Amino acid sequence: MGKIEIIQGDITSLAIDAIVNAANNTLLGGGGVDGAIHRAAGPELVAESSTLCGCETGDAKITKGYRLPAKHVIHTVGPVWHGGGKGEPELLHKAYRRCFEVAHENGLKSIAFPAISAGVYGYPMDQACGIAMEEAKAALERYPELERVAFVPFSSSALAIYQEKYKEIFA
Ligand code: ADP
Repeated sequence: MGKIEIIQGDITSLAIDAIVNAANNTLLGGGGVDGAIHRAAGPELVAESSTLCGCETGDAKITKGYRLPAKHVIHTVGPVWHGGGKGEPELLHKAYRRCFEVAHENGLKSIAFPAISAGVYGYPMDQACGIAMEEAKAALERYPELERVAFVPFSSSALAIYQEKYKEIFA
């Protein structure tokens, strides 16, 4: 699959330049993957995050990874799903784009994504996954230094959706 990987499991276990956190606007921790990342990174992560003054929906900010095997965490905030007519797709595209941009600005070559917005924020998994794959394709064209983009679906049903979308978009 070239530079794209799909790895089902816990994103906090990956040794990679950056894992992406599906954070909330406060950047001070939450549930889901955000909670798992904060637990695994240790209290230094919230200490650094609290200096960042939060994060707008669709933006991304970077911190160190602290006790994680990943060197950095790129915190992004995806949109809450309100049915799709409130700019959700544009905001989710922007969140992925900003993550790749922040990775590039920091000289990173490998990055792993959870299914941003597709948990508590309610974005339909197949649509969220399509956006993730489209932005990965664009980023690989834009940033030749990018060596590895990993997608980390948590459940086996999400894994099946990622595999399907990969075929659709990279075929
Ligand atoms: P959001 O608020 O952006 O919807 P969530 O954390 O609720 O974020 O969910 C995003 C996705 O991350 C969901 O598909 C959820 O199953 C998944 N997830 C939860 N914990 C982990 C983890 N440790 N590693 C990877 N994915 C995870």
